[in-house]
Amino acid sequence: MDLDWKNLGFNILKTDYNIRSVFRDGKWGELEVSSEDTFPMHIGATCLHYGQESFEGLKAYTGADGKIRLFRHDENARRMIQSARGILMAEVPVELFMEAVEKVVMLNKRFIPPHGSGASLYIRPLLIGTGPEVGVRPASEYTFLVFVMPVGPYFKTGFKPVDMMICRDHDRAAPQGTGHLKVGGNYAASMCSIQDAHEKGFATAMYLDAKEKKYIDECGPANFFGIRNNTYVTPKSESILNSITNRSLQTLAESFGMKVEVRPVPLEELADFEEAGACGTAAVITPIHRIVDPVKDLSYTFGNADNPGPVTSRLYETLVGIQTGDLEDPYGWTKILD
Ligand SMILES: *Cc1c(COP(=O)(O)O)cnc(C)c1O
Repeated sequence: MDLDWKNLGFNILKTDYNIRSVFRDGKWGELEVSSEDTFPMHIGATCLHYGQESFEGLKAYTGADGKIRLFRHDENARRMIQSARGILMAEVPVELFMEAVEKVVMLNKRFIPPHGSGASLYIRPLLIGTGPEVGVRPASEYTFLVFVMPVGPYFKTGFKPVDMMICRDHDRAAPQGTGHLKVGGNYAASMCSIQDAHEKGFATAMYLDAKEKKYIDECGPANFFGIRNNTYVTPKSESILNSITNRSLQTLAESFGMKVEVRPVPLEELADFEEAGACGTAAVITPIHRIVDPVKDLSYTFGNADNPGPVTSRLYETLVGIQTGDLEDPYGWTKILD
């Protein structure tokens, strides 16, 4: 494939195949390969009206050995089951999820960026209610589909710290809502605040807990972590998503001899962190230089504007090294496809 791998963005790009399975009459059908990127749907499908939708995001990489690697896709499968349970959709069995992901990656092999390009193949599994209902009740038919596209290096200008803005006039999730599920509704609820942050020159919005506005929740679509006193600190909250990247970084921090604390993180504690970052599949780690709280006229600064701190850099390089196969994977996180 002759793509300009280094200059790819994070955009929809048509690849050869996607893969689908339909849940009907109480069971999942065979996986079907398709080269169409549209499909007909009943106008009453519950995903269109009542938000019965959940998605996942993960990546495949080419190693120096030319082999294709997936990172912890069993964890994405388990998380999609949690999301399905949370909004009463049919659950995609772990085996079906993993098989679909592995198949669709190999079918689109020519779109997987080469080792060393910094680019990767982004994989988007989707589970939607496609059965029609006009009353508010769960659909009886669901579609699970997986599509892929090559995406560029997240940091085109290098691994550079960004500024974020604390959002006080919107919440992305309610205390006992769906914040812990990877569902589209949370994303709809976050659009205004993320756009507002962008318009004010910030990389994204940072959310506080919706109930008391005392604790840190998440940074846009990524978890937050701070580093202080050789300790990796990350929020515990009912309304944030259980990030696989975050859990992996916790394991790595422990392997570096650091302490890990998963607990409510009061906003004022930002003043004590030596380093801070946001983590998720898309960027792995987005180092944070400054967090501004415009309503309170406060700001918190970490390290310098040009370079991420030493712990953030080490965490990033180690995790990316494992994902691409440049470093040994002592945890069994990667699966080589052949
Ligand atoms: C997907 C997502 C993350 C990151 O999760 P990973 O498993 O690390 O990709 C964080 N927060 C939200 C709200 C998300 O949707």
